[in-house]
Amino acid sequence: MAMPAYRGRFAPTPSGPLHFGSLVAALGSYLEARSHDGAWLLRIEDVDPPRVAAGSADAILHTLEAFGFEWDGPVMYQSRRGEAYRAAVDELWHLGLVYACACSRKQLSEVARRGVDGPVYPGTCRTRQHADRALAQRFRVPDSRVIFHDNLLGHVACNVASECGDFVLRRADGIYSYQLAVVVDDAEQGVSHVVRGADLLTSTPRQIVLQQALDLPTPAYLHLPVAFDEQGAKLSKQTLAQPVESASPLAALRAAARFLGLALPADIDTSAGFWQAALAAWPGHSPPPIRGRRPNPCNP
Ligand code: GLU
Repeated sequence: MAMPAYRGRFAPTPSGPLHFGSLVAALGSYLEARSHDGAWLLRIEDVDPPRVAAGSADAILHTLEAFGFEWDGPVMYQSRRGEAYRAAVDELWHLGLVYACACSRKQLSEVARRGVDGPVYPGTCRTRQHADRALAQRFRVPDSRVIFHDNLLGHVACNVASECGDFVLRRADGIYSYQLAVVVDDAEQGVSHVVRGADLLTSTPRQIVLQQALDLPTPAYLHLPVAFDEQGAKLSKQTLAQPVESASPLAALRAAARFLGLALPADIDTSAGFWQAALAAWPGHSPPPIRGRRPNPCNP
């Protein structure tokens, strides 16, 4: 059978049980994929062992299953993908786009100005030519604007060099970065459409410059609403971080659908009824872009 043209995915980090914010991302990406007759793939983002909570990958899969999500193909685990990440860094190294960096976090915090997502790397080690590849590996980012169209937020523009600077692909302790892993894996899984929370909007330009350097396709992007407080911080310690109750899928699914602006009949009383109604209501539905303040993706 031919591969569906639309291949979406959900890529939770197993740092704890599935929480409400992740359920919103799972639901939005699932409904988008299915309403395009697309595939919906799962990837467990356990690339960073210290962040992984024992047993939570299985718990997340169990919850998704109990809620009635159906994924296509085998689950991908980033913890088993080290070889592919190493090959990507090697490729970039041979292209002259990676260099070793000996700067400590402390040194950086003293000299770097803040960008959209933490300190902007000032380029200290760019020309130092450390021979030691056991140091952190940084990607030499192009000094040009990345422009992409978000299917919900519209036009997004960012200069990664001035907003983030050269970013880490592999830490000195050998752990590959989220930015690298996600780019390599989205390509490996043939993901055509990324639907995820707007808290990741600031990562997308970095992922696009990496895709371009590795000659990988750029998927379409849609960043779903995430609740932000007045300071623009994610409401992670409130509703969004609450684990969802596996025992009552319907209540959690309804709350996530409501968060995405989906008005469903009040008399739905089973998860099967929920899925039928949600799948019927979603095509053409546009979630409210952002509750509260829109995160600044990058300065245009
Ligand atoms: N693993 C990330 C998270 O759980 C999501 C990554 C992505 O969708 O690109 O927030």
